Amino acid sequence: MTDFAATKAMFDLPQGMTYLDGNSLGPLPRGAAARVAQTITDEWGQMLIGGWNRAGWMDLPRSLGDRIAALIGAETGHVVLGDTLSIKVYQALASALDMRPTRRVILSDTGNFPSDLYIAEGLCRTLGNGYRLKTVAPEDVAGAIDDSVAAVMLTEVDYRTGRRHDMAALTAAAHGLGALTLWDLAHSAGAFPVHLAACGADFAVGCTYKYLNSGPGGPAFIYVSPRHADAARPALSGWLGHEAPFAFALEYRAGAGIDRMRVGTPPILQLAALEAALDVWNGVDLNDLRSASQALMDQYIAGVEAACPDLILATPRNHGARGSQVSFRHPQAYAIMQAMIARGVVGDFRAPDVIRCGFTPLFIDAGDVARAVDVLAGIMQNRLWDNPAYQTRAKVT
Ligand SMILES: *Cc1c(COP(=O)(O)O)cnc(C)c1O
Repeated sequence: MTDFAATKAMFDLPQGMTYLDGNSLGPLPRGAAARVAQTITDEWGQMLIGGWNRAGWMDLPRSLGDRIAALIGAETGHVVLGDTLSIKVYQALASALDMRPTRRVILSDTGNFPSDLYIAEGLCRTLGNGYRLKTVAPEDVAGAIDDSVAAVMLTEVDYRTGRRHDMAALTAAAHGLGALTLWDLAHSAGAFPVHLAACGADFAVGCTYKYLNSGPGGPAFIYVSPRHADAARPALSGWLGHEAPFAFALEYRAGAGIDRMRVGTPPILQLAALEAALDVWNGVDLNDLRSASQALMDQYIAGVEAACPDLILATPRNHGARGSQVSFRHPQAYAIMQAMIARGVVGDFRAPDVIRCGFTPLFIDAGDVARAVDVLAGIMQNRLWDNPAYQTRAKVT
C-alpha cells in the first residue's frame, strides 16, 4: 500500500490551509526549491553554456517525458515535454488533420476547456478550405462521429463538472469510422491511472502544473502513438525538432519519433522543479491513488449533501464516470468560494456557478475533507457568503 502520510510530508503546505486546488496548481514539493537552486547555482552558475551537455539539460524533455509516460500508460520514448498545453494541443491537432487530408471536421464537446476549442477554431481559420470545429454535448460525442471527422479532440475529464469520458470506447468508435483521437489529459495525468497505449490513443497532451505539481508555468507534454510517431508532420517545425539541430541546415527535416514535437529551447528551471516533483511519485501505486481519491470524494459528497441541501452536485456519483474533482452548483458560488478561502479552505470557482474542489491523496487526507465539509456547512447554514467582501472578482478566478 502506498504511504500517503509519507507523500504528504513531501509537500510544503502553508500552516492552517486545506488545499483542494491541486487540480489547478499543485503545491510546492519540498525537494523543488533545493533542486531549482542547485540548477541555478551549480549548473547555470558554474557550467554556463556547458550545462546543455554536462548537466544533461538537452535530454531533460525526453528523460522526464519517460517518467510521465509511466504515469499515463504510454510507451517509453514517446512522450516529450515543452511549451504550454495550448501549444501542444495545436501541434497534435495539426498533425492529426494532416494525417486525414480528405476530412474537414474536428469533433469536440461543449464541456471542453475553452483554450482547446479556441486553438482548434484558430487552426481551422488558418487552414481555411472548409475546416471546421463541431462541438456537441459530452454525452453525444460517440453518436456524432462520422466519416467527415478527421480528429476527435476531447479533454478526458471535464474541467467544470469532473465528468470523465470513456477513453477506450470513444477511441475505438473513432477508429471504427476512420478518425484519429487527441486526448487532453490536463485533469487525468497524476489524477488516476491512464492507459493511453492500451486504449490505442493516437495523440495525447497534458500539463504538469496541475496534478503533477511542477509549479506555475511548468511545461506541457505531448504523446504521439508509436504507430504515427515517424509519420506525423509537426506543424511547429522548430529547430529542436529537426533531425540534426546543430547541423544548422537550411531545410527542415523532422527528427525521429517524438523528438519532432520539440520546438525550441526547453525551460530548464521549470524542468528542474518538475524533476523534483516527479520524485514524489516514486513510491506511489496509481491504483492506490485512485481508491484513495474516490474515498475522499465520496466522503466530501456525503458530508456536503447532508449539511448543505442548497448545493446541487454537478459531478457523477459513479466512480468510473468521474475524474478526481467534485463540483457543486449554486448561484452564489463565487462568494461561497471566497468565504471558504477566507477560512483556509482553498478550492476554486468556475463560471457561472460552480464550486470546484480537487481531491489529491498525495497531500489531502480524510481529516482535510472533514474540515472542508465543516467550513462549507458553516458558510451555507449561516449565510456567511452574503458579505460584500466576497463579491469582488479578482482577475484570476
Ligand atoms: C489547464 C488547461 C489548459 C491550460 O493550458 P495552458 O496552455 O497550460 O495555459 C488547457 N486545456 C485544458 C483542458 C486545461 O485543463
